[in-house]
Amino acid sequence: MVRDQHDGFNIQPSTNPTSAEARTAKIADPGFGNIFTDHMAVINYSQDKGWHDARIVARGPLSLDPATAVLHYAQEIFEGMKAYRLADGSIGLFRPQENAARFNLSADRMAMPQIDENLFIEAIEQLVKIDMDWFPNVDGGSLYLRPFMFASEVFLGVRPAKEYMFIVIASPVGAYFKKGADAVTIWASENYSRAAKGGTGAAKCGGNYAASLIAQAEAAKNGCDQVVFFDAAEHEWVEELGGMNLFFIFDDGSILTPPLSGTILPGITRKSILQLAKDQGLRVREERYSRQQWEDDSNSGKLLECFACGTAAVVSAVGKVKSSRGEFTIGNGSTGQMTVKLRQLLVDIQRGNSDDSYGWVK
Ligand code: PMP
Repeated sequence: MVRDQHDGFNIQPSTNPTSAEARTAKIADPGFGNIFTDHMAVINYSQDKGWHDARIVARGPLSLDPATAVLHYAQEIFEGMKAYRLADGSIGLFRPQENAARFNLSADRMAMPQIDENLFIEAIEQLVKIDMDWFPNVDGGSLYLRPFMFASEVFLGVRPAKEYMFIVIASPVGAYFKKGADAVTIWASENYSRAAKGGTGAAKCGGNYAASLIAQAEAAKNGCDQVVFFDAAEHEWVEELGGMNLFFIFDDGSILTPPLSGTILPGITRKSILQLAKDQGLRVREERYSRQQWEDDSNSGKLLECFACGTAAVVSAVGKVKSSRGEFTIGNGSTGQMTVKLRQLLVDIQRGNSDDSYGWVK
């Protein structure tokens, strides 16, 4: 763990905050990722000082030298998590230690310094506290939190930077997919892979998403909501979507998700669903699943349901898979019963409507 010389957050409230009226109008229909709160948490890192100057300041543009390392070599990582309004009116974070731990795994992979997990969580808590009034009261609304870190040293040359910035911003959000709870159609990419063995697939670094955009554009052009990626070597084994993990529910009472092979992101929703599915008496399988089997099982009816999951979209049924070879439908193409059940179990915990027996809400 890196030296941690921070001595509490210096809180500098914005001198020009959004008016209550303008804020209310903005959060009435927030969409996803369009609007932002008034503040941000910022912490600097240098090799000699470690993490220092933890502060909450007015959210605003960053001034970066054109030779700032991240702009050239993409040394950048991030997290995505949500703060929820709980049934009792208080605010909760869902498994924030998991995000902190994954952030540090991403940092290791990208040759960046780790950040103390408590400091990571405190930055988020301080930001949520100062921008509480930005919670959207829309159905399924939450405050999406985006912690990120980038190489801020000014230099040209391929080596790990010596200076970094850690920032957290917050965005009031509604539903991720415009379709709401309807099943989505996904595009099976023939041309592109997301991650290869030894690559950065298990890290949450910006470059992974940059590389996925062309496939996402192909999906959109073909009328699909998301892309599903297959393994880079054989292009046969199902991995994950551009921003969500995948689950398959069968007629034999089992539920399958591809194993954490190093090429997919270890989703926190994935981990939680595995636990909830086990609690429902499903036989949980972390196993490889081929695209051919997926199609065959859909056609034979062995595959009852399929869903994608992640912090942003929570749990979203997959009704149809399209590719340049044709398309197939899962079940009757709409959201299945077990998908609804698992989604509800998760959402009830996240929103404080049911017993949090695993202590996931902080
Ligand atoms: N896979 C990818 C590629 C993602 O970007 C995400 C979103 N973080 C997920 C899976 C789901 O992860 P989580 O459940 O932790 O949000």
